Amino acid sequence: MSETHEFQAEIKQLLDIVVHSLYTEKEIFVRELVSNASDALEKLRHTQITESEIFDADKALEINLTTDEKANTLTIQDYGIGMTRDELVKFLGTIAHSGSKAFLQAIKDGGAKNDNLIGQFGVGFYSAFMVAKSVKVYSRSWKADEQGHVWTSDGSGSYTVEEAADLSRGTKIVIELKDEDDCKEFAKDTKVKTILERYSAFVTFPINLNGERTNKVSALWLRSKNEITDEEYTEFYKFQAHAYDEPRLKLHFSADAPLSINSILFVPQSNPEKFGMTRAEAAVSLYCRKVLIDPAPKDLLPEWARFLKGVVDSEDLPLNISRETMQDRALIEKLGKVITKRFLKFLGDEAKNRPDDFDKFYDEFGIFLKEGAATDFTHKEGLSKLLRFESSRTEKGKRTSLADYVSRMGEEQKEIYYLIGSSREAIERGPYLEGFESRNLEVIFCYENVDDYVMRHLTEFDGKKFTAADSADVKLDEKETEGEALSKDEMAALSKWLKETLGDRVSEVKTSDRLVESPAAVLNADSFMSPQMRAMMKAMKK
Ligand code: ADP
Ligand code: MG
Repeated sequence: MSETHEFQAEIKQLLDIVVHSLYTEKEIFVRELVSNASDALEKLRHTQITESEIFDADKALEINLTTDEKANTLTIQDYGIGMTRDELVKFLGTIAHSGSKAFLQAIKDGGAKNDNLIGQFGVGFYSAFMVAKSVKVYSRSWKADEQGHVWTSDGSGSYTVEEAADLSRGTKIVIELKDEDDCKEFAKDTKVKTILERYSAFVTFPINLNGERTNKVSALWLRSKNEITDEEYTEFYKFQAHAYDEPRLKLHFSADAPLSINSILFVPQSNPEKFGMTRAEAAVSLYCRKVLIDPAPKDLLPEWARFLKGVVDSEDLPLNISRETMQDRALIEKLGKVITKRFLKFLGDEAKNRPDDFDKFYDEFGIFLKEGAATDFTHKEGLSKLLRFESSRTEKGKRTSLADYVSRMGEEQKEIYYLIGSSREAIERGPYLEGFESRNLEVIFCYENVDDYVMRHLTEFDGKKFTAADSADVKLDEKETEGEALSKDEMAALSKWLKETLGDRVSEVKTSDRLVESPAAVLNADSFMSPQMRAMMKAMKK
């Protein structure tokens, strides 16, 4: 019995854009479908660990592509986990894929005019409709008591699902290509071969094209660094992270103790959270001897490291690792710590050896380091060494490390001073800096919203306390007043008059030698609440 279903509204919108976009690189759909087949095989391999009864248990874990120029079709078939009827409807008819969601968001934000949006996002399965007149998805779940079904659509508004007899386990996608030349060519063996050559080396399952093997199954992260070209790393990054940019930084390392680890970590070009629209999610995949254990474990790396992509492979993990047992949780935590420490060391080396690159990295991702320094107690020290700030001693736009600040501190200086303001100019214009400048004390400048929070949670660096230069607690040594000054009595009278005049708006009026040029300054008397925090609370109450 054949049932017709409407696509969810978002999918219709997505399909409309995918089908009518003339400018994208069409070939990315091959990569998307092969990666889905590979995902399905990984899931099956996983299911095998816990389930004893699996349909077609003896089928090889491989991916087969077939081209047929006469019929104008390309077929991609896997013996993976397959889909039940309900799963076909849910996975291929509703929007679950995060890349698709991000894509739609970008369109909403006015990007529809951008010709190459699909190229930047990847819309998963739906990319097949760039080249397809119709798509048929035959699928049979691994569950023994299920039936096989075929899902059919021409990508307009609806799709049908009906039962299909005699299917093997897994999924077979038959794409009937459009008649345009740049679609028809995907029915050619040579065309598909060149596409597969570019990235199929990173698929950990055999891929056959028209019966011939196209890849040596080899995990890139287990190969030796000096055998791998930059292009291979980039292609691997794109394939593994579903990315469309080039990696900004790359760390490939192995360790034997305390755990055996082979890992490749990538930092993408840009911070996905920059515009406050999306939150990055953990994306470093966990493997044990090339077998995927978890594509996106949330508990492996600390929260602030969520911008990282890549893989971690450890022989010391059990394949059926379970977060329910204390032992396994502790093992993941230990692994995470080793990797995080190694990554922080790598960033430290970058800062030293390639300061310009590190600076650009910091522009995009410094915010994550700050978040970590304030919230991740375990790595606080390592992270705070990587923080960079402008200061009263740096040029505009140049930053100093905290270690360099400390190295410039005079013997009498016990604390690290900072000022928060919207810009360098705002801070320099204010009355707070002059008292420090006249005593040769360097002050760190903070312009970012999070800085107040960060400074309070960092509390100290190298044993030196962070102190807001505008707080009333700051004690600076006395200075001789130059020129004419009011007498003690005159000062007391002036203070009294000011206090009476200002009333409850101030808690106290004091004479001070913090000022050099300015006649008066407002100081923050409340050491628990900075003006920035008060402004934030006020905004929240509204
Ligand atoms: P994503 O792969 O990012 O989840 P896709 O649009 O590529 O998004 O695929 C949507 C979903 O359809 C997948 O998450 C998966 O559940 C299902 N799917 C796609 N292809 C296959 C396949 N070959 N075998 C099993 N399930 C599949
Ligand atoms: Mg996919």
